[in-house]
Amino acid sequence: MKIIIMASLYLFSSLTYASFEVQKVTDNVYALVGELSQRSKTNLGNNSTHGVIITSKGVVLIDSGASYLGAKEIHKTIRKLTNKPIKIVINTGGQDHRWLGNDYFKKLGARIISSSKAKIDQQIRADEQTTRLKILIGDSLKGTEPVFASETFDKKMNLDLGGVHLELYHFGAAHTAGDIVIWMPSIRVMFTGDIVFNDRMLGIGPAKDFQSWMNVFEKMASFKPKYIIPGHGSASGLSLATNNTYHYLVFLKTKISKILENDGNMLDASKIDQSKFHYLKNYESIAGKNAQWVFEQMEFDY
Ligand SMILES: [Zn+2]
Repeated sequence: MKIIIMASLYLFSSLTYASFEVQKVTDNVYALVGELSQRSKTNLGNNSTHGVIITSKGVVLIDSGASYLGAKEIHKTIRKLTNKPIKIVINTGGQDHRWLGNDYFKKLGARIISSSKAKIDQQIRADEQTTRLKILIGDSLKGTEPVFASETFDKKMNLDLGGVHLELYHFGAAHTAGDIVIWMPSIRVMFTGDIVFNDRMLGIGPAKDFQSWMNVFEKMASFKPKYIIPGHGSASGLSLATNNTYHYLVFLKTKISKILENDGNMLDASKIDQSKFHYLKNYESIAGKNAQWVFEQMEFDY
């Protein structure tokens, strides 16, 4: 019941442009909500949500897309909202859809920013990511060149553009090693990248550190954001984001603890009844793997 009430409070006006549903969160702040399932030739690898902030001096884009053509598609979508130039691109983490479109926006003159940990993660996994994308999106990967952030930070960075103040924080590993949040205090909006998954089930990897992910989520939530623009799925309030992401991590931790207390094994982990989260897309393909990854980590720490 609570979920329904929260969802209805956060019914953003939305329109569909190209492959994105564009949600207006507040004045000059938008979520571009992409595909909820796998990367494909038609979604150009953008199975992700992106944030857009329009300032008097230009646009701040959160996450550049998974390919050159994917970045171009994001730009085309932004042009339906404003003709102002893209001034700053922030990569919230190391997944392909967070950064492989950097080259496109760099050529337009944008500053590219990420955490130092995310940049290292991107450098390590660039080949692996482009090889996988080639299989999943084929020709749609055409023209994609890995380009990394030219500005990085370790824990916190302040950013100002056209009267908008932003705070960037790296609290630790979550979905990937260098995940960050972007806080816009004036209107209490939090851009979370892959730290929050709405509408679809999260995957514990690639960082495979669910305990750190929980800590990072708690730090993010302590800001008491009014709006969350997540890494996947629709914009929401904090309560819905907590149900879809944090409560799922707590659920897995609780169930695996019981298995370990009873000397259970990996097979028991894969049999956990996760049907409570059945409403999240990709549940069938990823729920079992998540339980196994949490088991691996907890067995190691036990
Ligand atoms: Zn992601």
